[in-house]
Order: sequence, then C-alpha cells, then structure tokens
Amino acid sequence: MDFDLTDEQKAIQSLAREFASEEVAPRAEEMDREERFPYDLVAKMAELGFMGLPFSEEYGGAGADTVSYALAVMEIARADASTAITMAAHVSLGATPFYLFGTEKQKQQYLVPLARGEKLWGFGLTEPNAGSDAGNVQTKAELRDGRWLINGTKAFITNSGTDITGGTTITAVTGKRADGSREISNIIVPQDTPGFSRSRKYRKMGWRASDTRELSFVDAAVPEENLLGPRGEGYRQFLSILDGGRISVAALSIGLALGAYDQALAYSKERHAFGKPISKFQAISFKLVDMLTQIEHAKLMMLRAAWEKDEGRDYVQAASFAKLFAGELSHRVVNEALQIHGGYGFMDEYPISRMYRDQKINEIGEGTNEVQRLVLARLMGL
Ligand SMILES: Cc1cc2nc3c(=O)[nH]c(=O)nc-3n(C[C@H](O)[C@H](O)[C@H](O)COP(=O)(O)OP(=O)(O)OC[C@H]3O[C@@H](n4cnc5c(N)ncnc54)[C@H](O)[C@@H]3O)c2cc1C
Repeated sequence: MDFDLTDEQKAIQSLAREFASEEVAPRAEEMDREERFPYDLVAKMAELGFMGLPFSEEYGGAGADTVSYALAVMEIARADASTAITMAAHVSLGATPFYLFGTEKQKQQYLVPLARGEKLWGFGLTEPNAGSDAGNVQTKAELRDGRWLINGTKAFITNSGTDITGGTTITAVTGKRADGSREISNIIVPQDTPGFSRSRKYRKMGWRASDTRELSFVDAAVPEENLLGPRGEGYRQFLSILDGGRISVAALSIGLALGAYDQALAYSKERHAFGKPISKFQAISFKLVDMLTQIEHAKLMMLRAAWEKDEGRDYVQAASFAKLFAGELSHRVVNEALQIHGGYGFMDEYPISRMYRDQKINEIGEGTNEVQRLVLARLMGL
C-alpha cells in the first residue's frame, strides 16, 4: 500500500495552499460580512486551472485526477468555505454532467468555457418540495414543436445567478414510462432563456459569499437538443453526479475542520490564563490532539474514495462513508475549536465564528447525514 502522493498531486496541493493562504484567507472575513461573491478569486482559480481541474485537457481542463482535485478543495476550504464551495459546486455539479453525459457538441459548447473558468454553471435538482426525496421532482418539461417547455421551481441552487453564470442543468419530469412511473430527464437551460428567472440571493447562515438562489420556470422554452444524454436517464445521471460530489463535500468539510484546528492551535498558544498559555492545560491540548486525530481519519477516508474513483473502481460506498464521517467530524472539530477561543470565539472578528456558521451545511448539502445513512444501509444490504 502506497500512502505517498505523486509529485503532481503534491504540486497541486501546494499551489492550492499558497493561493488559499495568500489570496483567500485575508479576504474571507470581509467577503462573508458583505456577502460579496468573489469574482476576482474565481478568475484567479480559473488562471490556476482549478475550475476545470479533473477534466481532460481536450475540453479545457487541467487533466488532474480526483485526488488532486479533492486536495485543492480541502486547501481552499481551510481558508474559506464560500470560495471552496463556489469552485467545488462548479466542477462537481455544474461542469461534470457535461463531461460525463454530454454529446461532443455539448462538451465543446458548454464544458470547454466552464472548464476554463470563463463561465459558471448550476445544477438544479432540489425543489421546494423535493430535497432528500429528489425523485419527487415536480418541474415538468413538455416536448412541443421541437422545444422543451419547462414549468416549475428549483430551490437552493449554487452558482445559479452570478454575473458569469451561463445557465443551469435541471432535472424535470419529461413524461411517463410504459409502467406508469415518471420519466425524469436532465435539461440544459441557458441563462438568457425567456421564462427562466432567478430570485435574489438567499440570506444564509453560512457560505455567505457564495451564490445560492431559487429558480423559476414559466413556459421557459429550450431546443429539443438541450436534453443531456438520453431521455429518461435523469435519475440515474443525478445519482452518479451526487456520488462524485460527495468526495468534494468530504474534502470541503475536512478543509474547514483543518482551518478551525489551525485557528484553535494558534489561539491556544497566544492566550494566557492562570499564568501560562492555555495550550499547556491538558484539557486544551487533549482537545487539539483529538481534533487532529479525527481530521487524519477523515482525510484517509476521503483520499481512499478519491483514489478508488481514479482507479475506475466502485467508489460509491467509500464516498458516502467519507462524506458522512467528514460532515460530522467538521461539526465536532469546529465546535471544539470555538470552545478553545472562549468568549472571543463568539465575536465576529475571529475567523472561528464564521467557520462555526459555515460548518452546518456540510451535514445537509449533497445528501443529509440521515440520507447518507440510508444510502449506506442500502449498500450494506440492510
Ligand atoms: C447553501 C445550499 C446550497 C445548495 N446547493 C444546491 C445545488 O447547487 N443544487 C441542488 O440541487 N441542491 C442544492 N442544495 C439543496 C440540498 O442538497 C438540500 O437542502 C438537501 O438535499 C436536503 O433537502 P431538503 O433541504 O429539502 O431537506 P428535507 O429533504 O426536507 O429533509 C428535512 C429533514 O428530514 C430528513 N429526512 C428526509 N427524508 C428522510 C428519510 N427518508 N429518512 C430519514 N430522514 C429523512 C433529512 O435528513 C432532514 O434532516 C443546497 C442547499 C443549501 C442549503
């Protein structure tokens, strides 16, 4: 068993770490406070190749593997979860559907500018009444005169309304199968489609510098060729997109936990009580040891899932284990890191306060903790 990263993986990780510490971390507090989308950081990530990291070079990507991509997400999340989710949602949810299921023409038209980071793209699965129960999608697309006529609403869609968003790929009911069950397909909806509108940004507890909106479709018409892959394959496609996305959410959770650990470690050495740095109290040093032990554990799980994906193996169970463990771990670690800050941790000028708010979504997005357990119970034959 080889635990060493390749030279390329190490290089991408250190590039991401340098970018995160020099360019993202100093801005994170202000972006969060002002809920400001980081256009310039997205442009910089595009320049560094991060917006298309795991896609092949022929489609504008950097040709890196999943391990490198996960390490880059982790390093960026260590500095700022909003910037990390902007990149990870763009790659795993926005661009990957084109990479996996697009026709050659769709790849050239949509994937290439996305992989180069010239545009962002959303993936619209969730609806006001269909989240965990994603198969209960109510949005309908009817084929009329060579066009899909779309009606419905999508909720909580990341990267869907920025100035550089090109559109969103949505799941919709496109008909009924012979057995009476609903046929679900994925449809590409460019931003300028008449009848397609975006709400204002949600006001969120965390990930405040990221872009999340509700989408509305009222007789929104797109050409028939905007179907992604074969008709009726939407359900299978989104499950496979979410499987891959779980690796990046695990990486994001671990990055956030590492960032919280960094903050707590530094603070524990500076803060004095009873005549010595608080890191010298066993109660505090044991917390720090436990935090890093759990982070190392989660990192191994996440890297294993990424490696299995790169090896072309069935990585679904490993990705679900990693996502579940990393989401819950980030909760414990960020909570302890704030505890180490005492009352100052409750003040917004300390990064740990933002990290505490940013953490919660790691246990909800891309499948809640409960849904991960459902997926795993099924995979375990229960
Ligand atoms: C900031 C943010 C960004 C997001 N970005 C996107 C995006 O880009 N694209 C997208 O499509 N979606 C996105 N989402 C949606 C996200 O994936 C959903 O919020 C999530 O899947 C949960 O769905 P829900 O909110 O409808 O909760 P619900 O499904 O209503 O769940 C409510 C509670 O019930 C539990 N529950 C539900 N069913 C079961 C069950 N069978 N057994 C046990 N417990 C159950 C859940 O675990 C949860 O605790 C985003 C959400 C947020 C908050």
